Amino acid sequence: MSTEAEWPATLDVGALLAGGWRPEAFRQFILKVHSRCNLACTYCYVYTLADQSWESQPRVMSPEVVAAAAFRIAEHARAHALPSVEVILHGGEPLLAGLDRLTALVHSVRAACAPEVAVSFSVQTNGVLLTESFLQTFLELGIRIGVSLDGGEEANDRHRLTLGGRGSYASVARALDLLGREEFRPIYGGILCTIDLANDPVETYEALAVFRPPRIDMLLPHGTWAEPPPGIGAYADWLITLFDHWYQPGRPATWIRIFQEIIGLLLGGRSGFESVGLTPSTLVVVETDGTIEQSDFLKVVAPGAATTGLRIADHPFDRVLHHPGVAARQLGLAGLSDDCRACRFAETCGGGLYAHRYRQGTGHLNPSVYCTDLYRLISHVQARLTRDIS
Ligand code: SF4
Repeated sequence: MSTEAEWPATLDVGALLAGGWRPEAFRQFILKVHSRCNLACTYCYVYTLADQSWESQPRVMSPEVVAAAAFRIAEHARAHALPSVEVILHGGEPLLAGLDRLTALVHSVRAACAPEVAVSFSVQTNGVLLTESFLQTFLELGIRIGVSLDGGEEANDRHRLTLGGRGSYASVARALDLLGREEFRPIYGGILCTIDLANDPVETYEALAVFRPPRIDMLLPHGTWAEPPPGIGAYADWLITLFDHWYQPGRPATWIRIFQEIIGLLLGGRSGFESVGLTPSTLVVVETDGTIEQSDFLKVVAPGAATTGLRIADHPFDRVLHHPGVAARQLGLAGLSDDCRACRFAETCGGGLYAHRYRQGTGHLNPSVYCTDLYRLISHVQARLTRDIS
């Protein structure tokens, strides 16, 4: 599948710059510290969908790539006078890199950025390898931890399987019990849950809430207009049922991010993540081999859709800011399709996640494949808020 003549490949970044547009600096740096995974989830966009580039990646990020990434992050932060940046340790499964490598990486980035730039770290893990010794070290290093889990045992183990085909729930539940201990709460980031329509929304939420996460991310499964996820149109019902359960007096003890973001946007705030809203994306990815990529979720679109052709050893992050695919995610309303710009929820929805807008021929200049779901969900949340406020 070619993306040659599609938007944003046709976006003239030079003309934008000549017209006075300026990109926002990157603030979130995803480092793919290990390219392999110890789970084989059936829906994984890295290992099971369009882009299979992980097969040609080295297994683990080398010290040379780590040093180059640390240098480039510090260079970028200083060039843009950023007081702080966030580094997200990702994979594959990042814990496969081992404690020594992860510790050395954290020290390397902090040393490169010190003293002008504060660096916060987080790790996104499937939790299977998360032992007390990892937790103690992460606590000392100040690394916040997000764990992926899709609900209770039956719900989770339908898709999140070991390489041997067994369910992963028991291992992840053990890790979350540890992470939930009082001493580790300062580094408990939350749980990421990919929605499966086969699971009841309230049961799913309650099964996750047992682990007392500060926040739950309910994620729509990845897909595009070319390959729509199954059940399009039913996600609104699922999320509305959950919203009505969650949005009650005395709640929330646990934030659900998509609801939190939509409420904030409807009240005039800015979104803190790319799934909704028009906040410019300031996230960039460094692959295990040192190539610089756009967001990982573009791997659902086509092989190579996330590539920039740039390398951490040779190019500063400022070069990446001028890539059409990066610029397109910083244009706000101007980066949306005509249908989205005319939509009454354009500022709140923002066209949904960029990858979900892809259609062959028009590229990413379309409403989200989840358009009807997002429209109904936002309408519902708006009606509830209006009722409560008036
Ligand atoms: S609800 Fe649909 S048309 Fe409106 S902004 Fe979202 S994706 Fe675009």
